[in-house]
Amino acid sequence: MERLNIGELNPSPRILMGPGPSNVNYRVLRALSTPLVGHLDPQFLTLMDETCEMLRNLFQTKNRLTIPISGTGSSGMEASFVNFIEPGDTVIIGVKGVFGERMVDVADRCGVKVVRVDQEWGRVIDPGKMIQAVTQNPGAKLCAIVHAETSTGAQQPLSEIGNFCRGREILFLVDTVTSLAGVEVKVDEWGIDICYSGTQKCLSVPPGLAPMTVSPKGMEVLRSRKSKVRSWYLDLSMIERYWGEERFYHHTAPISMLYGLREGLRIIFEEGLEARFRRHHILAERLRMELETLGFRAFAQEGYRLPMLNSVHLPQGVEDASVRKRLLSDYNIEVGGGLGQVKGKIWRVGLMGEACRIQNIEYLVAALREILKK
Ligand SMILES: *Cc1c(COP(=O)(O)O)cnc(C)c1O
Repeated sequence: MERLNIGELNPSPRILMGPGPSNVNYRVLRALSTPLVGHLDPQFLTLMDETCEMLRNLFQTKNRLTIPISGTGSSGMEASFVNFIEPGDTVIIGVKGVFGERMVDVADRCGVKVVRVDQEWGRVIDPGKMIQAVTQNPGAKLCAIVHAETSTGAQQPLSEIGNFCRGREILFLVDTVTSLAGVEVKVDEWGIDICYSGTQKCLSVPPGLAPMTVSPKGMEVLRSRKSKVRSWYLDLSMIERYWGEERFYHHTAPISMLYGLREGLRIIFEEGLEARFRRHHILAERLRMELETLGFRAFAQEGYRLPMLNSVHLPQGVEDASVRKRLLSDYNIEVGGGLGQVKGKIWRVGLMGEACRIQNIEYLVAALREILKK
């Protein structure tokens, strides 16, 4: 057989200032390359417990079922729907960007009736509108919304909706893929029943796991299902038996990814949540000011702008693809373009986790000054 002459992997040292993935700390990279143990090895079981405990602290919850789902953020989304809804149910979904739209697609495939609460991209949904939809649809199974809409850069207020759902039959489901570890996420205080995230955004761990947490109210709904969960791989009633005391084999845990997540979480708690949120907030203000000076106006609604995902209009005469291509090829900087209806119209400049550094901001601004001759 002919030998293929493929060289050693040698990617350029990119500065990842897009919508994810974000840069990964060398400690996480080292953890990823640690020798394997078995997925039922006592040492690994300890690591699992430590990881869940750190995830509870991060989600600010006491929920027993707080685990990383195997798969990227979207697997968390899928698990959050398939486990709690059955054909014929009604679900209410807030849609104000690509990821709300993806929720509708996922729910739709489960054979449920979807009630949409739409909002113009870049803006947040008035909590009163979500509450109204809940009131108008008695018997709806769950109400879902994205906290940090990564396609627009807007941060959705949640506590009012959660507090309304708390005393009622309905479950409150929230996507925190981009927000978790970058801004406050208070699962218990805000009355969130089902919450999922992803490792590749503000957690600064490679894509591959979806941290998820379920309230006791959510667990009750799972246990009282009339039909089997329509996904074998994402069936939480089986997965929880592996993460619980039974250690029942369901699928082999992605060992190395869990090594990486544990180290990423350790780094987060060494910094401290408060300090981490402050860093994202302060540096985002700085970035916005610098971009404004260069003619990039903010896109997302004022007062609701995400620190880790800064969406900006392109100034007159700045060509989207060619400038981003130069940033990447000449400066090793990745920034995100617009998705869907804002493609070619906005940029999405990420400041997620490890990538949220003053030197990155200054370097990006210097690069843009050169490219745009400002
Ligand atoms: C990135 C993202 C997802 C999907 O995560 P993947 O890791 O790409 O599967 C879901 N929701 C939001 C808000 C996101 O930003």
